[in-house]
Amino acid sequence: MSTSLSARARQKLRKLLKGRFLEARKDLLAYAFDASGLTYLPEAVAVPANAAEVAAILKLANEENFPVIPRGAGTATTGAPLAVAGGLVLSLLGLNRILEINPDDLVAVVEPGVFNGTFKRELAERGLFYPPDPASYEFSTLGGNVATCAGGPKGLKYGVTKDYVLGLEVVLPTGEIVFCGRRTMKGVVGYDLVSLIVGSEGTLGVITKMVLKLLPKPPATASLAVYFERITQAAEGFLALVKGGLLPAAAELLDAVTLQAVARFFPKDWPEKTRALL
Ligand SMILES: Cc1cc2nc3c(=O)[nH]c(=O)nc-3n(C[C@H](O)[C@H](O)[C@H](O)COP(=O)(O)OP(=O)(O)OC[C@H]3O[C@@H](n4cnc5c(N)ncnc54)[C@H](O)[C@@H]3O)c2cc1C
Repeated sequence: MSTSLSARARQKLRKLLKGRFLEARKDLLAYAFDASGLTYLPEAVAVPANAAEVAAILKLANEENFPVIPRGAGTATTGAPLAVAGGLVLSLLGLNRILEINPDDLVAVVEPGVFNGTFKRELAERGLFYPPDPASYEFSTLGGNVATCAGGPKGLKYGVTKDYVLGLEVVLPTGEIVFCGRRTMKGVVGYDLVSLIVGSEGTLGVITKMVLKLLPKPPATASLAVYFERITQAAEGFLALVKGGLLPAAAELLDAVTLQAVARFFPKDWPEKTRALL
């Protein structure tokens, strides 16, 4: 595969996207990094506004032989959204609408560029809840979360992103727009193509729409901090909790080294003998 965008490809992309085709170095720099510490300056950046534009870009990529790298918010810690072999970074931040929140069906239909935190707040106002909670939820996109199958502390009780994706609109590398999955809670027929796409990191296609499963917002939440003199006691304590029939939404174990690190920045408000915090 060629690693450079031809003059003809650039011209076609300018015509298609107008001001949303970025070529100036100052613009490209904003898409040259993620949280891995790596830096690769893309040759150009496309910011499509809908699936049809994504499809046109991928068709052109086939005709003109250039790599396309889908990108959400660029918070990956792996280098995955970077133009490591040159080519066009395809930013999905232009597809950023919440299309539907349906409290009767407990589903939402969203575009990939919606930020997880924004989505959570919109749902909370309606008494609804979307559990997947990577620590980056305030600044990562739902599309990126689906492409990486992101998960966080609430995975303990609620599972991770793959447990909340019912259906996906995907633009295949050929430029064909397909829908896989469903918008019902039960869906047992046929090949599970949604699971194939979730976590595929943009290697199988570009996600342009997602049908996500919602839950009613828990009526109340409470946080509990329990101090232990030994880390084994903390583990035993947690097992006792679960065996007793209580599964917390999230649980975090801080060992003595972590507690020392915390004490460097915050007032130490735990008993002197504490060696673990649950
Ligand atoms: C401080 C911090 C904390 C983090 N905590 C967690 C955590 O707790 N759990 C966790 O799982 N991850 C975590 N991450 C990693 C990262 O935030 C997640 O992987 C997140 O899901 C990436 O979303 P993004 O929008 O930034 O996607 P990007 O980083 O832009 O892209 C990630 C991957 O998805 C692909 N992609 C993006 N959008 C699409 C699309 N629409 N269609 C197809 N492919 C696409 C990209 O090509 C790339 O392969 C953390 C990162 C940081 C910096």
